[in-house]
Amino acid sequence: MTTDPINPEMLDRLAEVAVRVGLNLQEGQDLVMTAPSSALPFVRRIAHHAYRAGAGLVTPLISDEAVTLARFREGSDASFDRAAGWLYNGMAEAFGANAARMAVVGDNPMMLSAEDPEKVARANKANSLAYRPAMEKIVTFKINWNLTAYPNPAWAQLVFPDLPQAEATRRLAEAIFAASRITGEDPVADWAAHNAELRKRTDWLNGHRFSALHFTGPGTDLTVGLADGHEWNGGAAPAQNGVICNPNIPTEEVFTTPHARRVEGTVRATKPLSHQGTLIEDIAVRFEGGRIVEASASKGEKVLLKVLDSDEGARRLGEVALVPHSSPISQSGLLFYNTLFDENAACHIALGQCYSKCFVDGAKLSPEEVAAKGGNSSVIHIDWMIGSDEIDIDGIAEDGTHTPVFRKGEWA
Ligand code: ZN
Ligand code: ZN
Repeated sequence: MTTDPINPEMLDRLAEVAVRVGLNLQEGQDLVMTAPSSALPFVRRIAHHAYRAGAGLVTPLISDEAVTLARFREGSDASFDRAAGWLYNGMAEAFGANAARMAVVGDNPMMLSAEDPEKVARANKANSLAYRPAMEKIVTFKINWNLTAYPNPAWAQLVFPDLPQAEATRRLAEAIFAASRITGEDPVADWAAHNAELRKRTDWLNGHRFSALHFTGPGTDLTVGLADGHEWNGGAAPAQNGVICNPNIPTEEVFTTPHARRVEGTVRATKPLSHQGTLIEDIAVRFEGGRIVEASASKGEKVLLKVLDSDEGARRLGEVALVPHSSPISQSGLLFYNTLFDENAACHIALGQCYSKCFVDGAKLSPEEVAAKGGNSSVIHIDWMIGSDEIDIDGIAEDGTHTPVFRKGEWA
C-alpha cells in the first residue's frame, strides 16, 4: 500500500520498458535525456535502468517551468529571438557519435497559455531553428530514440479538473501506465505482440501501394496524395545505427509520408490541439495543391495562423497516420492535452517536416531526393487529430480503384 499518487513500482516498470523496449539501449551507448524538473523521480529510474543495460554515460538536461515563465514575465524583448544553439549543436554532435536520445514529456500543457502569443511564436521559432541540426538526426532516424511521459501534477489537473491534485495525479499516472502497456504480467512480451500486430497493418498497406487516401466524415472531404515511393511504418523499427527501437511509448499508429503538393479538400479537427501552451479548438482548413489556403479555429486561431506562417513547409503535410477508434487510448475517453497520447487516439495528419524513414530505402535518400518524391520540409512537425468513429477512409490505387481501409473509425 502506498500513499504516493504515482505508484513507484509502476514508474520503475515504465522506466525499464522505456530503456529496454523504447530505446533498446545498447551496451556502451551514451544516452542524452531531456525532461522537465517535475519528472526527476522518473529521470533517476531511467538512469538506473540505462546503466543496468550497460549505458556509457547518461546525461540529463532538465528544463523548469518557473525558469521558462521568468523569461516570459521578465525577459527583455531581445530574449525572445535567442536559443541555446550551442547546446543543440552539442546534442547533434552526441547523436553523430551514436548517443541515444530520450525525451521525457510531461510539461504543464497550459504553461504558456497566458503569455503573449507573439513572444511564444518568436521563442518557438528561434528554438526550432537552433534545434534543427539535432532534430535532423531524429527525423532521419540516425539513432535510436524514445519519447515517454511522466504524470506532472499540473498536467494531471488539466486532464482531471474536478479532482483534487493528488487524486488527479494518481488517475493520470494510471492512464499513462495503461496506455503504455506496462500493466500486464510481462510488459516486454506484451510489447513484442503489439509490435507484431502493427507490423501486420503496415505490411497490408505497403502491399497495396495506394497513391492516395480519401477521408470522409462530418466537415471532412479530404484526398491525401501519398508521396512517391512512400512506405508505411508503425511500432518497432530499425534506426540507421541498426538498433530496433520503439520511438514512441505509447504508440498505436501506422503512418507514412503524404505528397506535399497533392492534398486537396477540406478537413475538420476532431479534437483540440494543445500546442506549446495554447489550446487550439475546432480547426478547419482547406487544401489546394497540397497547401493550406484557408484556416480557422474557434479558439487559439491567432496561434494557429502564426504556426502556419513558420515557413514555406508549415502549410503542407509531412505525415498521415491511421489509428482505429477502438485503440485503448481512444477508449479511455480522455483528452490528454499531449500529442504523444492524443495522436494515438485517432487518425491524424501533421503539418510540416516529413520522416524520411517513411520512404522505401529512405535512409539512402538525400533531402533533394525526398523533396522530389513529395516529402515536405519545415522547422515544425505538428500532429492534429482528424479521426473519429464517423470517419471512413478509402485507399485509391494508381488506376483509380477504391479499397475500403477504414469504416466508422475501424479497420475495414
Ligand atoms: Zn503520428
Ligand atoms: Zn507526427
